[in-house]
Amino acid sequence: MKKNMTCIVCPIGCQLTVEPKNDGTFEVTGNGCKRGPKYAYAEMTNPTRMIPTTVVIKNAMLPRLPVKTAQPIPKGQIFDAMAAINQVVVEAPIKTGDVVLKNLLGLGIDVVSTRTMNKC
Ligand code: SF4
Repeated sequence: MKKNMTCIVCPIGCQLTVEPKNDGTFEVTGNGCKRGPKYAYAEMTNPTRMIPTTVVIKNAMLPRLPVKTAQPIPKGQIFDAMAAINQVVVEAPIKTGDVVLKNLLGLGIDVVSTRTMNKC
């Protein structure tokens, strides 16, 4: 069945139309570059997302530290991932890139800080 989706690889946001073919491949139209079909294929077979969020930080000037998954995780595991990330409490000082949660959900993907926060 034909599916419409927005390519989120770059800010242009091309409107893609994806039509599965009998041989298991997909015909993609509407893409402005060759990254569109690659994105569409991943969305149809194993959609993934980065998770940008925050965790509690103690002894810092702000109460929450911005973090993200170091790599995209399967879309179907986002709620479980958020539940795990919401349990994390870190303590300043933290540097950008520091791992705040290792091996999220056993996926082999870490959650890392996206900001440096000093102790106050
Ligand atoms: S198809 Fe290419 S140009 Fe269009 S949004 Fe995706 S990456 Fe950007």
